[in-house]
Amino acid sequence: MPAPFDTQTGYDQHGRYPEATTVEDFRRNLAAVQARITAACRRVGRDTATVRLLPVSKTKPEVSLRLAHAAGCRMLGENKPQEAHRKWEAMQDLAGLQWSVIGHLQTNKAKLVARFAHEFQALDSLRVAEALDRRLQAEGRSLEVFVQVNTSGEASKYGLAPEDAPTFIQALPAFSALRVRGLMTLALFSSEAERVRQCFVLLRTLRDRLRQSAPTGIGLDELSMGMSGDFEIAIEEGATVVRVGQAIFGARATPDSHYWPGELSTEEPTS
Ligand SMILES: *Cc1c(COP(=O)(O)O)cnc(C)c1O
Repeated sequence: MPAPFDTQTGYDQHGRYPEATTVEDFRRNLAAVQARITAACRRVGRDTATVRLLPVSKTKPEVSLRLAHAAGCRMLGENKPQEAHRKWEAMQDLAGLQWSVIGHLQTNKAKLVARFAHEFQALDSLRVAEALDRRLQAEGRSLEVFVQVNTSGEASKYGLAPEDAPTFIQALPAFSALRVRGLMTLALFSSEAERVRQCFVLLRTLRDRLRQSAPTGIGLDELSMGMSGDFEIAIEEGATVVRVGQAIFGARATPDSHYWPGELSTEEPTS
């Protein structure tokens, strides 16, 4: 549980991240998260440069995203394809801003994602891979891709079962517009750090095993794991991308159960 005001995490007196409303707020929050990343890297002897911070802007209004951009963010993560597409359309004037779609995709939304996204982190079906590849070919584009794995065993979470990942990876070279970079997971939402850590360990060991027989052109160097509540543990276990929303933008009004149905609010990391 966070202290009433926690200078390390930036929680306010309610144990929530305060809303960032100025460029200065964003600069300070980004610096604070970066300092936590650096500290976590140091604990396990990793180079900070091997961890990419992906700011997650879902549910936040355009004005907040513009402030984040002004504070230096050049890639933003969004969970919902339609919300991401709408924001991309509205913010075409922002120089060098790229979009990462980090949430579940249905085949009928593949067209949207193929049009604008730089990265897609939640690939978990061949039907979606096929739909994306076809649309990307038509657009003359390619897409950085992460394969999502369900490491918590919760039925509510998306992602491949770990045992299905080897066969899935072998099929990916057929989709030449997809540039496969690695694996992504959402850990268990739990205040028990060891149970959370086990999810990250599972993703890393799975990646290490898959890498031994990965087809040519399928990169498995990246591990996207860790969010505001657990990114330090993820870094200790090998994360190369951390997806951080609330610690940068402020707490969300929308409950996370909207994104991951079936979760108990009492298990949210900031509660
Ligand atoms: C919202 C979200 C995050 C970030 O969660 P925070 O608690 O805001 O840090 C990370 N990954 C995915 C897939 C998300 O949807």
